[in-house]
Amino acid sequence: MKWEENVRRVVPYIPGEQPEDQNVIKLNTNENPYPPAPGVAARLASLTPERMRLYPAFPEQTQLAEVLARKYQIGKEQLFIGVGSDDVLSLAFMTFFQSGRPVFFPDITYSFYDVWADLYRVPYETKALDEEFCIRPEDYRQPNGGVIFPNPNAPTGVLMDLSGVEEIVEANRDVVVIVDEAYIDFGGTSCLPLIGKYDNLLVVQTFSKSRSMAGMRIGYAMGDPKLIRYLNDVKYSVNSYTMNYAALQLGVEAVEDEAYFEECCARIVKTREHAESRLRQLGFTFPKSYGNFIFASHKRIPAKEIFEKLKADGIYVRYWDKDRIRNHLRITVGTDEQMEALYRALETLLE
Ligand SMILES: *Cc1c(COP(=O)(O)O)cnc(C)c1O
Repeated sequence: MKWEENVRRVVPYIPGEQPEDQNVIKLNTNENPYPPAPGVAARLASLTPERMRLYPAFPEQTQLAEVLARKYQIGKEQLFIGVGSDDVLSLAFMTFFQSGRPVFFPDITYSFYDVWADLYRVPYETKALDEEFCIRPEDYRQPNGGVIFPNPNAPTGVLMDLSGVEEIVEANRDVVVIVDEAYIDFGGTSCLPLIGKYDNLLVVQTFSKSRSMAGMRIGYAMGDPKLIRYLNDVKYSVNSYTMNYAALQLGVEAVEDEAYFEECCARIVKTREHAESRLRQLGFTFPKSYGNFIFASHKRIPAKEIFEKLKADGIYVRYWDKDRIRNHLRITVGTDEQMEALYRALETLLE
């Protein structure tokens, strides 16, 4: 067919499997095993269909922006809210990576980056992590069209310290550097305080992991007001009303309950630390994780085999048949109970 010559062809991102069977122990997409803050359920019950007639602009959009700005002690003009951080990151690729020079990101990282680069025809170059899966800041010193990396990195869980992040931002003042902090709340230190010092730094976070709201699709970016303005210009050129009425309202409740949020993150960190010792006893090795997941490799049994056997047992973890990481599994930290089921299944299959 002739029209096919003029189609924008893309190879889409493949998210982790979402099984129909509700009995599966789902440790494959880094969802939070705990429910959102109790206030979310209460607010949900108060939502009125009548309000759905109207476009979701005021006051919801402003309210969520206000609570987030207050929490992070920034101005509303330093904040952009989108439909999950995937929406925010996608718009950021479209907005900031226009120079025609290659954008740099790690060779092992969030596998959506190369998809957006291809979609928007942004050239890119990957920079190899070192043997310990660490980002080497010195690799990001050559001329480029922008830089993006998650911190902690995904799927490795490896955290770069603040001085490494600053080194990269500092060395790239002429381009935009995006730090994807999807997992920062599980023990890392955010580079947010640097946004006042560097007008080229965009920090992106999400409600999907630490706030247990992957299903509501809320993400946000923080940076210099000028970065935020450019992002808004592109966003309003694509779709003015992306955030829905319910998500905007429920998001407010999730941010306001700081105590619940901290308790929930602390529980996941505790379970992760216990999981590290249990998995080590079972013969796994992994880098120290700062996410809600562990990137583990077994000394004896190939990752693919473990992945398939666990799946047959109704336990889903994530596996990539990809260079350098095909002997690793990314295991999301679930509840203690889910993790016990995982250790039991592993004990049996490793026998
Ligand atoms: C989960 C994740 C995201 C996106 O999550 P959203 O649900 O779209 O907010 C972005 N970056 C990384 C590294 C992630 O793991």
